[in-house]
Amino acid sequence: MKKFEIPVAFKSDLITRIKESRKVSDPRKKDFTPSVLSFGKLKILLPRHFGFCYGVENAIEIAYKVLNENPGKKIYLLSEMIHNPDVNRDLKDNGIEFILDTYGNNYIAWENLKSEDIVILPAFGTSPEIIQKLADIGIRTEGYDTVCPFVVKVWNRSQEIGTKGYSVIVHGKPKHEETRSTFSRAALSGPALMITDLGEAKILSAFIMDKLSPDEFMEYFKDRYSDGFDPAIHLEKIGIVNQTTMIAGETQEIAEYLKNVLIEKYGNENLKDHFADTRDTLCYATNDNQTAAVNLLDSGADFAVVAGGYNSSNTIGLIKILKKRMPVYFVRDAASVMPDMSIKHYDLEVKDETISKLFMKPGREYKVIVNGGASCPDIVLEGIIRKLAELAGESITDTD
Ligand code: SF4
Repeated sequence: MKKFEIPVAFKSDLITRIKESRKVSDPRKKDFTPSVLSFGKLKILLPRHFGFCYGVENAIEIAYKVLNENPGKKIYLLSEMIHNPDVNRDLKDNGIEFILDTYGNNYIAWENLKSEDIVILPAFGTSPEIIQKLADIGIRTEGYDTVCPFVVKVWNRSQEIGTKGYSVIVHGKPKHEETRSTFSRAALSGPALMITDLGEAKILSAFIMDKLSPDEFMEYFKDRYSDGFDPAIHLEKIGIVNQTTMIAGETQEIAEYLKNVLIEKYGNENLKDHFADTRDTLCYATNDNQTAAVNLLDSGADFAVVAGGYNSSNTIGLIKILKKRMPVYFVRDAASVMPDMSIKHYDLEVKDETISKLFMKPGREYKVIVNGGASCPDIVLEGIIRKLAELAGESITDTD
């Protein structure tokens, strides 16, 4: 896979060494057992796959190249390039300003942009309407587009099945930039609808099986379907794609569920006329990171510390997996692990930060998973490992 130029500030020698050695011993990525670092009574388990993915490294390389090649120019990012506070802070420190927040609200009014400005598009992509809005100002985004090729693959597949008459059902978070951009692209070639989970797939099923009225359906999915969407016509032929960072197993479960509903309604022999196979759009990195997390569930770990932006969908996916079996602390960075044995972490239920005291007790043996989402720099994870080792009374030089 292509190697990218990443600022050294995001890299970790320790983690690079571990990743390189795993690559050598397991070039075909078949071994999902974790790497183990021992610090006296503390064992740190690092999943087989974690951290920056292809799309994130690609976006970072482009953004810093644009910065280096355009001194003195006004450079904007359309919105957060990726959902990681360290990366976004560093870009801002280098003079980049963000035009939109995660939900599409303007920090900077469109009329303040000038045709000579540079606008970098984020890894999640954006809608054709926004690209047109920029073009109307005279801003061309070619060459400044960091959208991940795996997201583009989903767009292409959506448009392909859309032109064949299938409605595109997007499994994703309706407010997430990527889901909005995939939805808007899908809607260019046919009817499209956003659903968030299996529960909502069951509502689709209720309609398909004549157990829900069109009015109830339209009310439930208000603001989540394309113009002119008519469930009586547009749920007869469907294909499922996802926001690439959703839990891949959940997307597959939804696709399998709806496939069976359509078999029940139209018969197995007619399935191809009603259901498009889109399994090939699942992102490799999400798959690898989630499979590596699943492989940690039986590790006997006492708890997990997972680092990432609090709005990072793929990080939240990893947390959901690990939470099935152990306490998980969702932290922003190494500063969240404090010397008084307390930890500042984000509570996904309460949607706020909280502090847990004495999350480690002195002198005890611990097995701890340290993990990071696809937008988390390795240096953040090294910092967390160092902090945990210090709390255990050890230092990083004691690594096996
Ligand atoms: S998680 Fe997958 S789709 Fe998303 S940026 Fe990374 S490689 Fe691309």
